[in-house]
Formats: sequence, C-alpha cells, structure tokens
Amino acid sequence: MNKTEIIKNQESQYARSLIEASLDPIIAINTEGKITDINQATIHITGFTRDFLIDSDFFDYFTEKQKIQDIYHEVLQKGAVSDFPLTIQNKNGSFTDVLFNAFVYKDNLGTIIGVLIVARDSAKQKWALDLKIANNELAFQNKIKEKRAAELVIANEELAFQNNEKEKRADELVIANKELLFQSKEKEKREIVNKKLEELTYNAKLAYQYSLSLIEASRDPLVTINTKGKITDMNEALVNITGIPREELTDSDFFDYFTEQQNAREVYQEVFEKGSVADSPLTLRHKDGKLTDVLFNGSVYKDDKGNILGVVIVARDVTEQKRIATELIEARVFAELTTEIAEEAKKNAESATIIAENAVKAKQQFLSNMSHEIRTPMNAIIGFTKVVLKTELTPKQKEYISAIKMSGDALIVLINDILDLAKVDAGKMTFEKKPFKMKSSISAMLHLFETKIQEKNLRLIKQYDSKIPNVLVGDPVRLHQIILNLVSNAVKFTSKGNITVSVHLIHEDEDRVIIEFAVTDTGIGIPEEKIDKIFENFQQASSGTSRLYGGTGLGLAIVKQLIEPQGGTIRVRSTLNEGSTFSFTLSFQKTNADVELENELIELDTEIKNIKVLVVEDIPLNQLLMKTLLDDFGFECDIAENGKIAIEKLKAKEYDIILMDLQMPEMNGFEATEYIRKKMNSKVPIIALTADVTTVDLAKCKSVGMNDHLAKPVDERLLYSKIVGILKKPKLEKLSEKLNNGLKENNSKEKKIKCIDLIYLNQKTKSNPTLMMEMISLYLVQTPPLMNTIKQSLEDKNWKLLGAAAHKMIPSFAIMGINSDFENMAKKIQNFAITQDQSEGIYDLVLQLEKICLQACIELEEELNIIKNT
Ligand code: ADP
Repeated sequence: MNKTEIIKNQESQYARSLIEASLDPIIAINTEGKITDINQATIHITGFTRDFLIDSDFFDYFTEKQKIQDIYHEVLQKGAVSDFPLTIQNKNGSFTDVLFNAFVYKDNLGTIIGVLIVARDSAKQKWALDLKIANNELAFQNKIKEKRAAELVIANEELAFQNNEKEKRADELVIANKELLFQSKEKEKREIVNKKLEELTYNAKLAYQYSLSLIEASRDPLVTINTKGKITDMNEALVNITGIPREELTDSDFFDYFTEQQNAREVYQEVFEKGSVADSPLTLRHKDGKLTDVLFNGSVYKDDKGNILGVVIVARDVTEQKRIATELIEARVFAELTTEIAEEAKKNAESATIIAENAVKAKQQFLSNMSHEIRTPMNAIIGFTKVVLKTELTPKQKEYISAIKMSGDALIVLINDILDLAKVDAGKMTFEKKPFKMKSSISAMLHLFETKIQEKNLRLIKQYDSKIPNVLVGDPVRLHQIILNLVSNAVKFTSKGNITVSVHLIHEDEDRVIIEFAVTDTGIGIPEEKIDKIFENFQQASSGTSRLYGGTGLGLAIVKQLIEPQGGTIRVRSTLNEGSTFSFTLSFQKTNADVELENELIELDTEIKNIKVLVVEDIPLNQLLMKTLLDDFGFECDIAENGKIAIEKLKAKEYDIILMDLQMPEMNGFEATEYIRKKMNSKVPIIALTADVTTVDLAKCKSVGMNDHLAKPVDERLLYSKIVGILKKPKLEKLSEKLNNGLKENNSKEKKIKCIDLIYLNQKTKSNPTLMMEMISLYLVQTPPLMNTIKQSLEDKNWKLLGAAAHKMIPSFAIMGINSDFENMAKKIQNFAITQDQSEGIYDLVLQLEKICLQACIELEEELNIIKNT
C-alpha cells in the first residue's frame, strides 16, 4: 500500500466512522439516485441489509415516490432542502415519519457528485405536538380528566417507547463505534493529508469531500477529539451550539464547553476505558450563556494497527426531549391538580345539590303541612254546606249556600294548586272532561262576588251568549278557577265603575264550540311595560301592589297554566287609569247528555241499609262530618280516634266496612290496616281517606291491603258509590252467577230467579193491566234494537249514536225493576260516548248489558203472557 493509498484508506475509514456516528439515518446517493453509502440507522429504519441497499434505487424506500423525486430535484436545484416531512417504509411494513434534510456534495471543482440525506425520525416532534394539544384540552376540559389520564398513560407509554428507541439507537451507536475501532485517523495525520491534498488522487480528494460532507450532514453536534482531549474536527452544529467559530474550536480543550467540566472529562475517560459510552447526560454552554442539554455518545477510533487515535463524539441535543419530559411532569401535576379541582367542584356541587334538595323538600313539606292545615277546616265547611244543601231551603238560601260550596270547591282546588306548584311548573296539570251547564255554573260563581261588588259600589254586568249550547263537556272547576281569579282581580283593582263578564260563542261546528270569556274593569290599569310580566310567578305590576291591594302575584300565573294546557290563550288589554280587559278562549266538546245538578240529592239505594261503618279519624270536625254523611245514607256509624282504638272496636264488634284516615296519632292508617289484615286475618273492606292527594302513597295503601281510597274533602256521592260498590260486589257476583244459572235452568225449562221486578210498574200503573202490557210491549219492541244500536255504534265508533242509545235505555231499568247496577252500566256507556275515556272495560259493560236485557226480555215476555191470560 503506497502512501496515497494509505491516506485514501484512512479517509474512507474516517468517513465511515462519521457516517456511523450519526444516530439519524444517513444516506448518500449519486446523481442517478442510486444509494452509494448508508449507516446502521438506515439499515434499522428500512429493515434491509447493507448489501441490499447499496446501489438500489433510493426512491423505493419512501411511501410517496413522486414527492421524494420532486424533492430530490429540488435539492439538485437549490443545493439543499431541510425538514421536509416524508415517510419511510420498512421491509416489515411499518412506517417511520421523518424530517428529510438533504444537500448536495461536490468535488473540489464544484461539480455535484451526489446528495447526502439525513432523515430525522419525526415521531418525537409529533408526540410533543400531541402533548401540547393534550395540555390545551386539559386546560379546557376538566370534566374529562379520566380521558386525560388515559392520554397521559399513552403519552407515558410513548415516552417509554421513545426511551427504548433511544436505547436501541445507543446500541446501534455502540455497534457503529465498534466498527470505528478498526478505522481511524488522528488530527496530525489529517494535517498531513491536508498538506498533501494536492498530491492525492482524484478519488482521495473525493473521499475527503465526502467526509467533510458527512460531518456537516449530521444534525447533532459532532466532534472528534484526540487522545489529549483536544478537538481535531467538528461540524457546523457544534459551532452553532457553542457559538464559537471553527478556528477557535480547533485544537481547543473539548471539556471547556461543558457546564460540568469534570463530569465531561470523566465521561471522556470512560470512553477510553470502555471503548464507548452511550447517552451520558451533559450540558453544553453557548458563549452567550445559553445551555443545551445533550446526550453524550462517544466511541474511540483506532488506526489499522489497533492504536487508539481519538474519540468521535455525537452530542444529541435533548433540550426538546427534556422540555417534553418537563411538560409531561407539568401535565401530570396539572392533571392531578385539575382532578383535585374537579373533585372539589364536584363536592361543592353535591353539597349545593343537597342544600337545594333540602330546600325543595322543606318547601314541599311546608306546603304539604299548610295545605293539610287549611284543608281540614275547608273539608268541614264544604261538607256541612253539602249537608245544609240537603235540608229544606228557600231558593235564595239554596243559591247562596251553593255559592259558598262552590267557593269552597274553588278554594280546595287552589290549595291543591299551591301544593302542586312544582307540578304546575312542570306542566303536569290534569283536566277533567265532564258534562256541565256552563251558564248556571258561571252565574253561580259570580254570586260569590255580589257582596264585595255591592260593598265597593261597583256594577256587575253579565253578558251571556244565548247561542252557547246548554250542556258542554269540559272542566268546570278549572273554568271557575280561571274566572274567579280574573274577576277577583277586577274587583280588587277597581274602585268605581263596572265589572263586565262576557261569554261569547265565537265558533261552532258539529262537535265543538269555541267560547271567548272576557272580564273587563274600569280600574287602575296596568303600565304597558309591566304587561308581559304579570303572568309570571309572584309578579305584580308595581312594588306597592301587595301593600295596597294584597295578593301574591300567583293568580295570573296559575290562570295561564290553566288555560294554555287546554289549548286556549289569554290576552290582556289595558290602559293606565282607565281599565283592563282580560280575555281568553277555550274550546268545549258538545254533548246531548243531561247533567244532574250539583246540589241534587242523591237517591239512596233501598237495598243497601243497616250497614255498619267504622270511621277511623282523629280530627273531631271530620268525625262529625263523616257521621252526618253516613247517617244521611242511613248507615250505622262508630268512630275511632286512631288505629289502636279501631282495632279494639273491631275486636268487639263486626263492621261491614272501615273508612280509615292515614295520618293519625298513636297508630296510623297503614299500621292499623296491616294489623287488621295480618294479625286479625280480617277481610273487612277498608277505604283509605287521604287528606293529601299528592303525597299519598297509593301503592302503600294497596300493599298494606286497603281496598280503595278516597280523597278528602270527601265527595258524598263518591263515598256512597264506593261503599256500595265494595259491599255490593259479592252480591253482584252472586247475581250474575244466578243469572247464568238462570239461563241454563231456563234452557232446561226449570224455574229460575228473575232479574225483573214489576213492583214499580204495578205502583205507577196502579196495576192497570192494559197500561202494564203497553209498557212491557214498548220495552220488548224498543230494547233489542237499542241494544243492537249500542253494539253497532260502539264498533263504528259513532259516539253520538252510542250515547243517544244508551241514554234512551237508562229509564227502562228502573221501570222494569232491574237492579240499578245495570242502569249504572248504561250510564257509564253513555259517559264513555261523551269522553271516550276508556277507564272501564267498555266492551265488557256492553256485553253484561246485553245479557241482562236478553234475560229481561225473556222474563217480560212471560209476564206479558201471564197478564194477558189473567
Ligand atoms: P295578585 O293579584 O295576587 O297580585 P295576580 O297574578 O293575580 O297576582 O296579578 C298580578 C298583577 O297583575 C297584580 O299584582 C296587578 O299588579 C296586575 N293586575 C292583575 N289584574 C289586574 C287588573 N284587573 N287591573 C289592574 N292590574 C291588574
């Protein structure tokens, strides 16, 4: 080997060392795009062997071939490109995103001989970006902290992965450095090379250029140091990171540039001892004071005889990694902090919720207690008014007492509404659909204001449209409540002039009417800017209103809640100091049903008498009221003040039915019922009397074994029908059993129990046979077609016809002495035709009715024959 060859050999060894010293993939390609040299990192990233890669087409290893070719041409044109994002595909199919840096290298005549490429793995940068995004998210989304935690876990895993990668690279470096052991050069020798450069062959020059290019190609500070610790060669990256020019760096003490010189020296010595070191953390100092954290990777290089010539060092800038690590820690701390804050906020929210819930509970409890307190005396007022209504009264007295009762009814509804304020807010108001007489209902209600109006010297003008059908279907109690509110406001806010209540028919079709109600006054009026407000809860037009006129500001809010859910609207027109008109429209169903008057006495079923009732009730007023009602029914009545006493009484005496209050001292209704059912094994019917409809636990009533429940104030008709219903049930069952048997017996031509009873007919006709025969014939002619009409119209959903047919049938039951249960069935069918409210099994009712009519016809036919024959 001649000297030139030695130099050439050493140059190429040096180049090799440099190439391998890089942690990033380095690839040299010629002008045709063929790979001429690569390092270990490239082998790792592509997964191909060195032999395979050398001389292969460079562009093949990228996912976007066109792009890489374009970039390659750009490099040739501009001399360099930097940080171009590309993706390298590994042999095994995996991908690595890289930032592609390339520049041309030339011979000393300036001719381009190839391109050097450094491809920095960009996963780390990407990850840093992800972390940043994660941080932002953290800042804005405390709530999804769990997700964040998960992301952090992923981030941690990624960091771990990165560290693994780094370790791998360090390993690679070690491998690379080991290769370096056999390829060396020292500064002195290189100086000789420099001096003799002109003498070198073209190839040697090329190799030298190549080496220089390689040094520069490295993005990390790269430096070679001789055995004395003096810098012999370096790249631009080191110049940049130290801020010291190349000339100054050369031959200077390498350790001077670290913050901890002693450490650096020790690491350096370690390289000599061990042959290499990997990833020793050190800090480089820029001359202006800026510090750069690096991982120090070093490896000795030797001459071909094995003599150590120096050390090649790559100092990877880990500022970014450190920043990421710091950010990660910060992010974690931040996440923990956010978690704490979130938990704190959650706790606060929870306690606030508890406070709010308690407040709501307290409010409900208060309303419930209050309404209970108010209801008890109201029950008595209404109850006794009903009792008085049943006595001999002059028409005027009757009218006034009816007005009192109506007022009480309205008040009870109002109390319920206040109790149900929450319900009102939730729009859960329910409305009845029942036939009522609009005109008398409204005028009875207006009676309530007569005294007040007279006292204030006002005039009440009533305008009632005569075209309005007599009976309409709707919710009269709610209608009262609405008008009551409006009229009482009108009276309240008017000191002179008129109050006009007008009711007009504004539309009518086959089955409904739309009616406009208006209440006009000549009072103080409402300021324009307040008009929108007055329908809100607790809103009054002026702050002085409550002081001057009283009121709570709840009336109109409830009015609105009563009108709008029924499909109506309320409007107000008002001029300050002149007066106001509140008007609303509601639609009502038409009907041809008759309405029993509110204060009509109920007929008592003669069959049900001598009934022994035990009333369990603690409030004396209620006790008295119940006693009055039951006396009226002709029932025997005992009172027990609480559950305990009730049980004692029940042990001493037999009762047909128990009316059980729920809230009582000593032993409440539930406990008493439970005792009666479980301990006494008694099946005596028990009806719960519930004062508070909203809180009553109907399920609880049922579960302890109560048969039914009744809301206070007790509606006497409802009370009667419930008592009778429960007591008659076994009788009714027996009756239909008898009927069925009767039919069977009839088939076998045997004597049977009759469903008809001609006592009434005998009485009415004074047993006149002609009249009786006429009546019976009429029934026989009329009933079967009526029954058919009922069945057919039900099927056709012809409600009008169904109602009319049922209506026509009703009187016949009483005339023929058929049990009134069947009359009630016909009434139920009629009611169903009006409301279509399918609470009872309507088909079942029709079936039962048909059965009884058939039976009645058979029996009446027989009777007819008997009368004929006598
Ligand atoms: P309240 O009458 O209990 O205050 P309302 O909800 O019935 O509550 O009425 C709310 C407010 O609307 C009243 O306080 C009053 O300022 C105004 N207002 C209602 N009706 C009239 C009226 N007819 N004339 C003048 N102001 C009225």
